[in-house]
Amino acid sequence: MIPEHVSFILDRLRRAGHRAYPVGGCVRDSLRGVTPHDWDVCTSARPEQIEQVFSERPQIDAGRKHGTIAVIVDHTPVEITTFRADGAYLDNRHPTQVTFLTELEGDLSRRDFTINAMALDEDERPIDLFGGRQDLENRLIRTVGDPNTRFAEDGLRILRGLRFASQLDFTIEPITARAMREGRALLQNISAERVFSELKGILVGPAAARILRDYSSVFFTILPELAPMEGFWQHSPYHDSDVWEHTLRSVAASPEELVYRLALLFHDCGKPACFFRDEKGIGHFYGHPQRSREMAETALRRLKCDSDTRERVLYLVEKHDTWLPDTEKGMARLLLKEGADRLKDLLIIERCDALAHAPAARGSALANVERWAALLNSLLQKQPCLSLHDLAVSGKDLLALGMAPGPQVGALLNQMLELTAEGALPNERDTLLAFARTQI
Ligand code: ATP
Ligand code: MG
Repeated sequence: MIPEHVSFILDRLRRAGHRAYPVGGCVRDSLRGVTPHDWDVCTSARPEQIEQVFSERPQIDAGRKHGTIAVIVDHTPVEITTFRADGAYLDNRHPTQVTFLTELEGDLSRRDFTINAMALDEDERPIDLFGGRQDLENRLIRTVGDPNTRFAEDGLRILRGLRFASQLDFTIEPITARAMREGRALLQNISAERVFSELKGILVGPAAARILRDYSSVFFTILPELAPMEGFWQHSPYHDSDVWEHTLRSVAASPEELVYRLALLFHDCGKPACFFRDEKGIGHFYGHPQRSREMAETALRRLKCDSDTRERVLYLVEKHDTWLPDTEKGMARLLLKEGADRLKDLLIIERCDALAHAPAARGSALANVERWAALLNSLLQKQPCLSLHDLAVSGKDLLALGMAPGPQVGALLNQMLELTAEGALPNERDTLLAFARTQI
């Protein structure tokens, strides 16, 4: 099943007297019966030899000093990497130098997990030196070699392993799992960008909640803001779990999309700091959404999350506990203020939050969300005018009616916009002009 453009690369290298194999993720995915999203090739050819073999083709330096050159075939870049061993890792981050090798074996043994350490031979049969097929069969993540050593070389592998487990819904082999927990402090040496990139992959995986639950200590190392939730009992009729378990259930209930999952991960992290018990012994968390927002902001900035994602997440964290309007008029005003996308997102968050409540409290919380969702949908069905730009009259029209220029023009336009959004006035020019005349 090797695609044409990859076969082309393999043939060329082999005809020039080098060895060349598809390797890594593409082998793993083809063996799983999934179409690989890209194909990486490893070869005995040195970088300058790769350049020479493909001299007539466009190439990209994809890390030449580590042996990687991307060659473009049929508009698709394919990364070709010289067999290599990684030198000593002095800072748990980067190999200080790489050594180019002449044999495949050394290249496979530097790779992180057994399922990622296979190549395909000339007959497209797997070359599997570390039991990767067996682990794939058993749905297991296991390091190539001793996990403590491998994580000490590169701490990011801990998160990579959790990411593969979450994405593939695999379990982690016990010795590897123990080394992940024991080695979690190694993550402190890894750049925020690399950490966040893996965290994103973990969060959008189908097994995200399970991985967060089973490896909470690892996550609390990179997100200390989350730690107080674990074991924090709520003393509330709405909840039958600690704040962390409630959080994980809400994550499990949500679509596999980053913004929702981040928002749910943080939505209640401010609760422990806002906890108080009334005279009846019932727990309350007044002000926790704002507190959660502040903590989420600190965490997302530290992780160098892009500002668009961050702002969407923070909005949802802050508003997750909002009681939405029950009248068409109120909902229309909110719609005008926030826009349809934000409100739809907010309803998704509130629904997931509701689903994670104690069974006795779940029904009424869900009923609220469904009522608001129905109200919003019925409003949107009417395609309300939601911006001055779409309003059937403009400031010019009002001036033509004899209105004096000034802020009152904008105020009247906004008033008409609200009335049309609420359905009190149709967005029709004549009706709006008639209304305007009564106001001037
Ligand atoms: P994906 O489908 O997520 O791209 P992948 O297996 O292709 O999965 P990459 O991050 O693209 O993952 O890396 C390609 C290959 O390089 C891996 O399969 C693995 O063999 C090796 N690799 C990548 N990062 C590391 C690392 N930090 N330590 C050891 N080997 C690694
Ligand atoms: Mg890849």
